[in-house]
This record gives sequence, structure tokens and C-alpha cells, in this order.
Amino acid sequence: MLRRAFPDRCVFCGSEAPGWLCVNCRWDLPHVPNPCGRCNQPVRVPGPVNQDCAACQVSPPPFYRARAALLYAFPVDAALKSLKFGHALYYVPAFAELLFAQFLQSFESADALVPVPLHHWRYAGRGFNQAAELCRPLGRAAGLPIVGNVKRVLRTRPQTGLDAEARRRNLHAAFAVSGRLGCSHPLIVDDVMTTGETCRQLARVLLDAGAVTVGVLTVARAAALN
Ligand SMILES: [Zn+2]
Ligand SMILES: [Zn+2]
Repeated sequence: MLRRAFPDRCVFCGSEAPGWLCVNCRWDLPHVPNPCGRCNQPVRVPGPVNQDCAACQVSPPPFYRARAALLYAFPVDAALKSLKFGHALYYVPAFAELLFAQFLQSFESADALVPVPLHHWRYAGRGFNQAAELCRPLGRAAGLPIVGNVKRVLRTRPQTGLDAEARRRNLHAAFAVSGRLGCSHPLIVDDVMTTGETCRQLARVLLDAGAVTVGVLTVARAAALN
């Protein structure tokens, strides 16, 4: 359907190309330099490939692995902004293709996709959730179901009767699973990962709901310059 609406044009340069990305643009797209094997954040002093960064060694995140297809830098940042705020959905198949390549490399054990949910008022304002849009073609390519019962929630659960750790989680839990999770190895999907806090929160909620492992796959990773 989308292929017919935008036939054989690269989404980045507009040149004729089979699919949605020409060879030159695909080659030129920025990637995360020296990524941590766990959280994907660039490591300042590169060690062996896939080594965990100092932060992950001290305090491992709840997800076992995060991967981004690209670095959040030009032209990826501009494309993702126009996808999210300018309704430029023609980027979706191109990004889904890149996500699928990364999925095959790193997440073949995943058994379901979890798009990071939007607040309902944000969804109402935007009319779509970019993470869910990316999940649809990715789910089809990977043959995986999309988990639809994870929601953003207001932080209004009562604190009484919770121990310190549970209180901390409760305060920070912006997500909730309604009913049964229905998968063991969910893969969180989003457009951009910045600090990673959203994905950490969502991963904790999925683990609390019975997930055995949680992975994170994003189109881009915003690298902290340190
Ligand atoms: Zn191109
Ligand atoms: Zn790390």
C-alpha cells in the first residue's frame, strides 16, 4: 500500500531507488559509535566489542539489551521529528526495514513487540503513536504479535503498605499492564531512546507482570556527549 503511494523513491534524498532507502543514504546514515553492549550508550574509552559501560556494570538496567538502528543525528533526527510532529508517515517503512535488520541481529528470541504507549491526551492531540506505527510493519516482518494492553497511567496508586523499593517503583511507574501480559520475552519498540529512563520504567513494569527478559529496540539513540 505505502509502496504504491510512494513508488521507488528514497525517503531521504528522493532519488529513484528500489524500496524506501537508496544505497548511498543507507551507507551514510549515522550509527552509534562504540556502543555499550547492554545499554547501547557510546562508551568513552572503547574496550572489547560489546563490553558493558561503567554505569551498566555498577547498576545494570532492567532490560538485558538495548539496540538502536541509528544514531540520533542528522538526517535521522530531522526525519524522526517530522514523523512525530509533522505526520510524515512515509518514513515508517524505511525505518521499519532498518529496525527489522537490527531485530534479526539482536532479538530473535523475542516473542512479542511492545510499542511505548503515549498518554491518551497526547495520542488525541497527535492522532497516532509513532511507536505503534513502527511496530506494525516490524511485527509483520518478524512474525510477532503486538502487545496492546500496556498503558500509560497517572501515578495515583496508594503508597500505603508498600516497602521502600516498591514505593520507589510505584512513584516512577508511568506504565501498567491491564490483565495478563501474555508473552515471556517482550521487545520494547520506540522511535528514540534518550536517557533510557522511559524504557527502564517500562521494562520494570513488564518484568513485574511476568516477563522473563525484556529487550529494547529503537530507530535511534541520542548519545550523551561526555
Ligand atoms: Zn537516498
Ligand atoms: Zn551501558
